Amino acid sequence: MNQRELFLKHVAQTSYSPMMGIDLNIVSAQGSVLVDVNGKSYVDLISGISVSSIGHCHPKVVKAIHNQASKYMHLMVYGEYNQTPQVKYAQVISSHLPSNLNCVYFTTGGSEAVEGAMKLAKRVTGRTKFISFKNAYHGSTQGALSLMGDEYFKNSFRPLLPGVEILEFNNINDLNKINTDCAAVFIEPIQGEAGVIEATVDFLKALQIKCKETETLLVFDEIQTGFGRTGKLFAFEHFNIEPDILLVAKAMGGGLPIGAFISSKENMNHFCDNPVLGHINTFGGNAVCVEAALASLNVVLEDKLVQRAMWIENFVKFNLKNPRIKFLRMKGALGAIEFESVEFCQRVIKKCIENGVISDWFLFCDKAMRIAPPLNIEEADLSHSLKIINNSINDL
Ligand code: PMP
Repeated sequence: MNQRELFLKHVAQTSYSPMMGIDLNIVSAQGSVLVDVNGKSYVDLISGISVSSIGHCHPKVVKAIHNQASKYMHLMVYGEYNQTPQVKYAQVISSHLPSNLNCVYFTTGGSEAVEGAMKLAKRVTGRTKFISFKNAYHGSTQGALSLMGDEYFKNSFRPLLPGVEILEFNNINDLNKINTDCAAVFIEPIQGEAGVIEATVDFLKALQIKCKETETLLVFDEIQTGFGRTGKLFAFEHFNIEPDILLVAKAMGGGLPIGAFISSKENMNHFCDNPVLGHINTFGGNAVCVEAALASLNVVLEDKLVQRAMWIENFVKFNLKNPRIKFLRMKGALGAIEFESVEFCQRVIKKCIENGVISDWFLFCDKAMRIAPPLNIEEADLSHSLKIINNSINDL
């Protein structure tokens, strides 16, 4: 059996044709460029879905990983030891957040941050109902899946959590369904898998007022939009609205698996009693992952990658013009190129990959192709990618 056959046989698959049937066996990844086993190069125009925001194998992240791995990796389950990397990271990230977001619970990824936040909201409010929005993606575990704003992906897994109500995104009237039974509202201020759909300022302001009125916690899922992706360190800064709980993951670790839910110390204290160990896990905040996260955050800040995301937005808007593109939505370096049909979009993506530019589509917007390159992508690589997209469209 060749490796492709072994991959399909022994590595659990989530579709019958991963990457549209194109066999990507990558042997190295540096910056924005992936190289496959045959020596072919690809520009990673999606950063492994908004993870490699500072590029693959950033030397400062690699160095931090080596340093920490030689000191210690896993010491103890979450929360028991006073671990320097966790303390440093929590302190630094808090200094870049509003004062109520001053306490960090480290997880191993995004869905787990969502699950933790759901439990926290139940404890803080003593309520059990949750609100989320149409076309929301919050993860694949059962609590997070319950919040998903799409029935197709949920139907085969019912029963899911009771008491979840899905409202229309950007519909202010629908917010009247939020009441004093609600523990929390989960929202992506800029919806990722819906195809880069921004909340309006009026909608988020009305949502915040409704949450305050009903004492419902407001949870911003910035797992995809965090760490500079949309032209602010966190997308909520575009709206001047502060959440009660912030969820992060993906780009946080500079390529290593880590996430967090961040809230006030007062809220987090609820996990300390009734029951004690109210939320625990083994690997959350793994020292090597946290050091990678700290190095990654420093790169975002020192190299001014938040501003670079805005440069990417302008560069793409200026250089990508084709009559067959129906809509181009860009928020910083998170973009969706929407075409007439799903079929056409799939053909463009496939052609781009064959021509050395990696992209994909959005879970709830399969007519649109994703652009989410590393924020420090070289101008030449971005320019080349846009030409390939253009040529691929024109060739079809
Ligand atoms: N929320 C959002 C907005 C996401 O984009 C994702 C991942 N695509 C998740 C939650 C779930 O994160 P993970 O895949 O790390 O569990």
